[in-house]
Amino acid sequence: MSQTQGEFDLIRRCFASGFPLGSDVLLGVGDDCSAVRPPAGYDLVQSIDTQVADVHFPHNAPAHLIAGRALRCAASDLAAMGAAPQGFHLALTLPDSNPAWLDQFAHGLRTTAHDLGLPLLGGDTTRGPLLIITISVQGWVPQGKMLTRHTAKAGDELWVSNTIGSAALALPDVLKNPASELGLAKAYYHPTIQFTLGQRLVGIASACMDISDGLLQDAGHIARASQLAIEINADQVPTPVSSDHPHWQTCLSGGDDYQLLFSAAPERHNDILALNSLAGVNCTCIGRLTAADAQQGAGVSVLKDGQPFSPQATGYQHF
Ligand code: ADP
Ligand code: MG
Repeated sequence: MSQTQGEFDLIRRCFASGFPLGSDVLLGVGDDCSAVRPPAGYDLVQSIDTQVADVHFPHNAPAHLIAGRALRCAASDLAAMGAAPQGFHLALTLPDSNPAWLDQFAHGLRTTAHDLGLPLLGGDTTRGPLLIITISVQGWVPQGKMLTRHTAKAGDELWVSNTIGSAALALPDVLKNPASELGLAKAYYHPTIQFTLGQRLVGIASACMDISDGLLQDAGHIARASQLAIEINADQVPTPVSSDHPHWQTCLSGGDDYQLLFSAAPERHNDILALNSLAGVNCTCIGRLTAADAQQGAGVSVLKDGQPFSPQATGYQHF
């Protein structure tokens, strides 16, 4: 086998087959456009996500782990909207076309696509100075029912799914040893995407988002979009380490877990606890939303043991 392969051979070998099929897909990889037939009574939601080597993942991580993580991170936005996954497009910029690397990348992508139920609809393949993976995802939500950030109400409770901080705690190990996917690194490379929970929250949650850049920073997005004040009880946030651990604060500000952060009226409290019987779902109430007062405006405040608490950091920003 040659060390490199042409663009069209590459696409055929890696991306033309082996992905899940969708009954709503009229055309997938191979034509100028993909085509999808919308089911009656649903809205289409779409999102796009770019991952750059050595910004979002170590360039020397195993290709199948890079691919799987990129698809999971992109798909998480669908869960956050309460959508059922429909499909994805992949734009790949590669410094070279190493067949062994690409086979491994495609293998990881296929496995993850099957795990998530996401057909590959098409994409674009280009050469560039570094590895860049751009994935757009789309899904269906019952008409008018999508979960948004701007619709939280004063008096709502704030909830988070599962545990926050495992991926952030794993990061130093991942950077030191990118090939290991064991232990905490599992949370970094294989974040659980909360598709089932997201869809079950439709009609229950008043607002929802996925946590990709840190709990405290992302909570600020719901607060500002909804023009409300959010109060978070830091000691109620489910973290993999206790609050006396030296890295506990990393859990509050670290991203990469892709759990859901959502608000709901207090009357829905027991409906949400009932969702904890779903496999892989454990929601915890961590705070509340109130009207923003003239002094502080919309934003997030943190309490620890009932006292005001100033965290060292709130989250990740690119610029
Ligand atoms: P065009 O020139 O019409 O944009 P291309 O020649 O770039 O099409 O791609 C040929 C086909 O292969 C298209 O259907 C496109 O969607 C698909 N494709 C290209 N790159 C990828 C990729 N990385 N993953 C999935 N499909 C891809
Ligand atoms: Mg074309």
